[in-house]
Amino acid sequence: MKKIVLLLFSAVFVIYGFNSIPNYTKQELIGKIDPYTHKGFTKVKSRYTDRDIYLRKEVNRAFEKMAKAATKDGINLYILSGTRTYTRQSEIWEDKWNRFEGNPEEKAREILRYSSMPGTSRHHWGTDFDLNSLEPEFFETKSGEKIYSWLESQAWKFGFFQPYNKLGDNRKRGYKEEKWHWSYYPTASQLLRAYNNLIEYQDILGFEGAELGDSLDVFDHYVNAIYIPKNLEFQQIRNQP
Ligand SMILES: [Zn+2]
Repeated sequence: MKKIVLLLFSAVFVIYGFNSIPNYTKQELIGKIDPYTHKGFTKVKSRYTDRDIYLRKEVNRAFEKMAKAATKDGINLYILSGTRTYTRQSEIWEDKWNRFEGNPEEKAREILRYSSMPGTSRHHWGTDFDLNSLEPEFFETKSGEKIYSWLESQAWKFGFFQPYNKLGDNRKRGYKEEKWHWSYYPTASQLLRAYNNLIEYQDILGFEGAELGDSLDVFDHYVNAIYIPKNLEFQQIRNQP
Protein backbone atom coordinates (compact mmCIF):
# COMPACT_ATOMS: atom_id res chain seq x y z
CA MET A 1 0.00 0.00 0.00
CA LYS A 2 2.77 2.39 1.00
CA LYS A 3 4.51 1.64 -2.31
CA ILE A 4 1.38 2.37 -4.34
CA VAL A 5 0.87 5.70 -2.62
CA LEU A 6 4.50 6.57 -3.23
CA LEU A 7 4.20 5.57 -6.90
CA LEU A 8 1.05 7.65 -7.29
CA PHE A 9 2.79 10.61 -5.70
CA SER A 10 5.77 10.36 -8.04
CA ALA A 11 3.48 10.01 -11.07
CA VAL A 12 1.61 13.18 -10.11
CA PHE A 13 4.94 14.89 -9.51
CA VAL A 14 6.29 13.83 -12.92
CA ILE A 15 3.12 14.91 -14.76
CA TYR A 16 3.01 18.21 -12.93
CA GLY A 17 6.72 18.66 -13.54
CA PHE A 18 6.34 18.14 -17.29
CA ASN A 19 3.41 20.49 -17.47
CA SER A 20 5.32 23.18 -15.71
CA ILE A 21 8.14 23.21 -18.27
CA PRO A 22 7.39 26.39 -20.19
CA ASN A 23 6.66 25.73 -23.83
CA TYR A 24 8.25 28.52 -25.85
CA THR A 25 10.10 28.32 -29.15
CA LYS A 26 13.66 29.60 -29.55
CA GLN A 27 12.29 32.11 -32.05
CA GLU A 28 9.92 33.77 -29.60
CA LEU A 29 12.59 33.87 -26.89
CA ILE A 30 14.92 35.91 -29.10
CA GLY A 31 12.33 38.08 -30.81
CA LYS A 32 12.24 36.33 -34.16
CA ILE A 33 8.46 36.58 -34.27
CA ASP A 34 5.86 38.92 -35.69
CA PRO A 35 3.73 40.34 -32.86
CA TYR A 36 1.27 41.69 -35.46
CA THR A 37 0.24 38.17 -36.46
CA HIS A 38 1.18 36.07 -33.38
CA LYS A 39 -2.03 34.83 -31.72
CA GLY A 40 -0.73 35.45 -28.22
CA PHE A 41 -0.25 39.19 -28.78
CA THR A 42 -2.58 42.16 -28.94
CA LYS A 43 -2.32 45.85 -29.76
CA VAL A 44 -2.18 48.34 -26.90
CA LYS A 45 -5.22 50.65 -26.88
CA SER A 46 -4.69 54.16 -28.22
CA ARG A 47 -5.62 55.70 -24.86
CA TYR A 48 -2.37 54.24 -23.46
CA THR A 49 -0.04 55.03 -26.37
CA ASP A 50 0.14 56.93 -29.64
CA ARG A 51 2.37 54.27 -31.17
CA ASP A 52 1.88 50.89 -32.77
CA ILE A 53 2.66 48.79 -29.70
CA TYR A 54 1.98 45.10 -29.05
CA LEU A 55 2.06 43.05 -25.84
CA ARG A 56 1.12 39.52 -24.88
CA LYS A 57 -2.62 39.40 -24.24
CA GLU A 58 -2.41 38.58 -20.51
CA VAL A 59 0.20 41.32 -20.05
CA ASN A 60 -1.99 43.85 -21.78
CA ARG A 61 -4.97 42.83 -19.59
CA ALA A 62 -2.93 43.24 -16.42
CA PHE A 63 -1.53 46.54 -17.68
CA GLU A 64 -5.02 47.92 -18.33
CA LYS A 65 -6.09 46.99 -14.79
CA MET A 66 -3.03 48.73 -13.40
CA ALA A 67 -3.50 51.81 -15.60
CA LYS A 68 -7.15 52.14 -14.50
CA ALA A 69 -6.16 51.92 -10.85
CA ALA A 70 -3.45 54.51 -11.48
CA THR A 71 -5.94 56.89 -13.12
CA LYS A 72 -8.05 56.79 -9.95
CA ASP A 73 -5.00 58.03 -8.06
CA GLY A 74 -4.38 60.79 -10.60
CA ILE A 75 -1.53 59.01 -12.44
CA ASN A 76 -1.54 58.54 -16.21
CA LEU A 77 0.50 55.58 -17.38
CA TYR A 78 1.61 55.80 -20.94
CA ILE A 79 3.51 53.13 -22.94
CA LEU A 80 6.47 54.25 -25.07
CA SER A 81 7.78 50.87 -26.10
CA GLY A 82 6.54 47.28 -25.85
CA THR A 83 7.43 44.21 -27.89
CA ARG A 84 10.52 44.58 -30.04
CA THR A 85 11.67 42.11 -32.67
CA TYR A 86 15.21 40.87 -33.20
CA THR A 87 15.38 43.04 -36.33
CA ARG A 88 14.32 46.17 -34.44
CA GLN A 89 16.79 45.49 -31.61
CA SER A 90 19.55 44.97 -34.22
CA GLU A 91 18.75 48.41 -35.68
CA ILE A 92 18.99 50.04 -32.23
CA TRP A 93 22.23 48.17 -31.48
CA GLU A 94 23.91 48.92 -34.82
CA ASP A 95 22.85 52.56 -34.77
CA LYS A 96 24.68 52.98 -31.44
CA TRP A 97 27.56 50.78 -32.64
CA ASN A 98 28.15 53.17 -35.55
CA ARG A 99 27.94 56.28 -33.37
CA PHE A 100 30.01 55.15 -30.37
CA GLU A 101 33.80 55.38 -30.20
CA GLY A 102 36.42 52.89 -29.08
CA ASN A 103 37.36 49.31 -29.76
CA PRO A 104 34.58 46.71 -30.23
CA GLU A 105 34.54 45.71 -26.57
CA GLU A 106 34.38 49.31 -25.37
CA LYS A 107 31.54 50.05 -27.78
CA ALA A 108 29.59 46.99 -26.67
CA ARG A 109 30.00 47.85 -22.98
CA GLU A 110 28.88 51.42 -23.63
CA ILE A 111 25.75 50.29 -25.50
CA LEU A 112 25.01 47.76 -22.75
CA ARG A 113 24.63 50.50 -20.17
CA TYR A 114 21.03 50.90 -21.35
CA SER A 115 20.43 48.78 -24.46
CA SER A 116 20.40 45.04 -24.98
CA MET A 117 22.25 42.97 -27.49
CA PRO A 118 19.79 41.63 -30.10
CA GLY A 119 18.33 38.33 -28.90
CA THR A 120 18.84 39.18 -25.22
CA SER A 121 16.17 41.84 -24.61
CA ARG A 122 13.17 41.29 -22.35
CA HIS A 123 11.32 43.44 -24.90
CA HIS A 124 11.42 40.43 -27.25
CA TRP A 125 9.06 38.58 -24.92
CA GLY A 126 5.97 40.80 -25.03
CA THR A 127 6.01 40.95 -21.23
CA ASP A 128 7.94 44.18 -20.75
CA PHE A 129 7.29 47.81 -21.57
CA ASP A 130 8.70 51.30 -21.01
CA LEU A 131 6.49 53.87 -19.28
CA ASN A 132 6.15 57.64 -19.60
CA SER A 133 9.80 58.69 -20.21
CA LEU A 134 13.12 57.13 -21.19
CA GLU A 135 15.09 59.88 -19.44
CA PRO A 136 16.39 59.13 -15.92
CA GLU A 137 16.08 62.89 -15.17
CA PHE A 138 12.31 62.82 -15.75
CA PHE A 139 11.91 60.58 -12.72
CA GLU A 140 13.66 63.24 -10.59
CA THR A 141 10.97 65.81 -11.46
CA LYS A 142 7.87 66.22 -9.33
CA SER A 143 5.54 64.44 -11.77
CA GLY A 144 8.14 61.77 -12.53
CA GLU A 145 8.65 61.08 -8.82
CA LYS A 146 4.91 60.82 -8.28
CA ILE A 147 4.52 58.26 -11.08
CA TYR A 148 7.49 56.21 -9.91
CA SER A 149 6.49 56.11 -6.28
CA TRP A 150 2.99 54.98 -7.31
CA LEU A 151 4.50 52.18 -9.41
CA GLU A 152 6.91 51.21 -6.65
CA SER A 153 4.11 50.73 -4.14
CA GLN A 154 1.32 49.42 -6.43
CA ALA A 155 2.68 47.65 -9.55
CA TRP A 156 3.37 44.34 -7.77
CA LYS A 157 -0.34 44.00 -6.96
CA PHE A 158 -0.94 43.63 -10.72
CA GLY A 159 2.04 41.30 -11.26
CA PHE A 160 4.55 43.91 -12.42
CA PHE A 161 8.08 44.59 -11.23
CA GLN A 162 11.05 46.75 -12.16
CA PRO A 163 13.77 44.27 -13.23
CA TYR A 164 16.49 46.92 -13.53
CA ASN A 165 16.40 48.65 -10.19
CA LYS A 166 19.25 50.63 -8.66
CA LEU A 167 22.62 48.89 -8.93
CA GLY A 168 23.92 48.04 -5.47
CA ASP A 169 23.21 45.47 -2.80
CA ASN A 170 20.04 44.12 -4.44
CA ARG A 171 21.48 43.99 -7.98
CA LYS A 172 25.21 43.84 -8.41
CA ARG A 173 25.61 44.07 -12.20
CA GLY A 174 23.83 44.63 -15.48
CA TYR A 175 22.06 47.60 -17.06
CA LYS A 176 21.84 50.91 -15.28
CA GLU A 177 18.64 51.61 -13.38
CA GLU A 178 15.56 51.99 -15.60
CA LYS A 179 12.65 53.45 -13.67
CA TRP A 180 10.55 53.31 -16.84
CA HIS A 181 10.98 49.60 -17.57
CA TRP A 182 8.33 47.28 -16.05
CA SER A 183 7.81 43.58 -16.51
CA TYR A 184 4.93 41.12 -16.01
CA TYR A 185 6.36 38.54 -13.63
CA PRO A 186 3.97 35.57 -14.15
CA THR A 187 4.82 35.26 -17.87
CA ALA A 188 8.31 36.79 -17.92
CA SER A 189 9.58 34.42 -15.23
CA GLN A 190 8.50 31.46 -17.41
CA LEU A 191 10.15 32.96 -20.47
CA LEU A 192 13.38 33.51 -18.56
CA ARG A 193 13.40 29.88 -17.44
CA ALA A 194 12.85 28.74 -21.02
CA TYR A 195 15.50 31.18 -22.25
CA ASN A 196 18.10 29.83 -19.84
CA ASN A 197 17.26 26.28 -20.93
CA LEU A 198 17.30 26.82 -24.68
CA ILE A 199 19.30 29.80 -25.89
CA GLU A 200 23.00 29.60 -26.71
CA TYR A 201 25.40 32.22 -28.03
CA GLN A 202 25.27 30.67 -31.49
CA ASP A 203 21.54 31.57 -31.61
CA ILE A 204 22.28 35.29 -31.46
CA LEU A 205 24.47 36.15 -34.41
CA GLY A 206 24.29 38.36 -37.49
CA PHE A 207 24.96 41.88 -36.15
CA GLU A 208 28.07 43.99 -35.42
CA GLY A 209 29.89 42.73 -32.34
CA ALA A 210 27.75 39.59 -31.96
CA GLU A 211 30.83 37.51 -31.16
CA LEU A 212 31.30 39.57 -27.96
CA GLY A 213 28.14 38.12 -26.40
CA ASP A 214 30.06 35.13 -25.13
CA SER A 215 33.16 36.94 -23.87
CA LEU A 216 31.08 39.62 -22.12
CA ASP A 217 28.92 36.84 -20.66
CA VAL A 218 25.71 38.72 -21.51
CA PHE A 219 23.44 35.86 -20.39
CA ASP A 220 24.75 36.03 -16.81
CA HIS A 221 25.77 39.66 -16.64
CA TYR A 222 22.68 41.19 -18.28
CA VAL A 223 19.79 38.77 -19.05
CA ASN A 224 19.88 37.27 -15.56
CA ALA A 225 21.06 40.37 -13.71
CA ILE A 226 17.58 41.37 -12.58
CA TYR A 227 15.99 42.16 -9.27
CA ILE A 228 12.83 40.33 -8.21
CA PRO A 229 11.07 41.82 -5.19
CA LYS A 230 10.22 39.30 -2.49
CA ASN A 231 6.52 40.23 -2.30
CA LEU A 232 6.14 39.19 -5.96
CA GLU A 233 7.64 35.77 -5.36
CA PHE A 234 5.30 35.19 -2.41
CA GLN A 235 2.34 36.27 -4.49
CA GLN A 236 3.37 33.81 -7.21
CA ILE A 237 3.70 30.93 -4.75
CA ARG A 238 0.28 31.71 -3.25
CA ASN A 239 -1.35 31.68 -6.70
CA GLN A 240 0.06 28.31 -7.68
CA PRO A 241 -2.49 25.45 -7.82
ZN1 LIG B 1 12.73 48.83 -21.67
